[in-house]
Amino acid sequence: GFKVGIVGLPNVGKSTLFNALTKTAAAQAANFPFCTIEPNVGDVAVPDDRLDKLAAIAKSAQIIPTRITFVDIAGLVKGASKGEGLGNQFLANIREVDAIAHVLRCFEDGDVVHVDGRIDPVADAETIETELMLADIESLEKRLQNITRKVRGGDKDAVQQERLMKAAMAMLEDGKPARLVDVSDEDRKAWDMLQLLTTKPVLYVCNVAEEDAANGNALSDAVGQMAAAQGNSHVVISARIEEEISQLDADEAQEFLAEMGLEEPGLDRVIRAGYELLQLQTYFTVGPKEARAWTITRGTLAPQAAGVIHGDFEKGFIRAETIAYDDYVSLGGENPAKEAGKMRAEGKGYTVKDGDVLHFLFNT
Ligand code: GDP
Repeated sequence: GFKVGIVGLPNVGKSTLFNALTKTAAAQAANFPFCTIEPNVGDVAVPDDRLDKLAAIAKSAQIIPTRITFVDIAGLVKGASKGEGLGNQFLANIREVDAIAHVLRCFEDGDVVHVDGRIDPVADAETIETELMLADIESLEKRLQNITRKVRGGDKDAVQQERLMKAAMAMLEDGKPARLVDVSDEDRKAWDMLQLLTTKPVLYVCNVAEEDAANGNALSDAVGQMAAAQGNSHVVISARIEEEISQLDADEAQEFLAEMGLEEPGLDRVIRAGYELLQLQTYFTVGPKEARAWTITRGTLAPQAAGVIHGDFEKGFIRAETIAYDDYVSLGGENPAKEAGKMRAEGKGYTVKDGDVLHFLFNT
């Protein structure tokens, strides 16, 4: 599955957010199955109105959303790259996630100590980014010596790796994250294999006070400007509110949201933003037994999309019967769509589109 790591300085609201994320899902167990794999790892259902609409049309007995995993990565402090705090363990945990949700403290509260003694989310973001850049520099320094030896020994793959490592190093030494390096399509795979921390996509999560949940505040605005300048995205939430909502049943939660002037739980936005960040897409399988959402990356071909359900579907793939989401909904289901000529037979070369309703035919 795809993993988003929740990072941030101590006392910014990471655990509060993580607990809300996992509890909310549990509270809605019927529609949003979730499980906690480890204390700090939670599988979270991805909210998607389209799935509910499809299920209503097909009168599906069960609705099964797709999921992504959030990992609460505690322990990042200034000096982590030098082994401070949980240091190296922390950095190893980040290496394993596909994207980073960076929680920033945008609330004032004299009772909650800030590690640097002042509330400045933009400076906090820089503190963390600096640690990640230092960690990348250190790991590259070690690996470059090795790779240079291999290049001298005539290893062809090593030539490409060395070139990419040097490009990353130049960017980092210029004080910038490695994600700003321009990477060609041919180099993409080797680049990803470098597993640098500062190439992971970042989402800033501004944790604001309850009263600022609807409109944000000057601090979250400053984060928004920084994010825009970097080409990163940001969401504004109040972790405290999310924690409270996570303990309510669905009706109470709705009422509470309305009182706060909110349309939906902030968590839904965090989950969706995480999904976007990973460049993920959804396709659906719909029938009377269940309506289910499946996750693929952009550009996935039909056989590999089938493989997400089961390896045999990919191995024995014959074709995919495909109805676009809009056709399925506007025509009122599979049979009417078929009669209107909107069900297409697609072969091995078909790139699955977001929202496709699919039915796979395969040899066993
Ligand atoms: P972590 O160290 O980043 O995991 O932070 P926690 O989630 O443990 O939160 C640290 C403290 O800040 C706890 O006492 C939380 O109750 C408090 N806290 C979290 N979010 C908010 C908030 O939006 N407003 C206020 N006033 N306190 C918060």
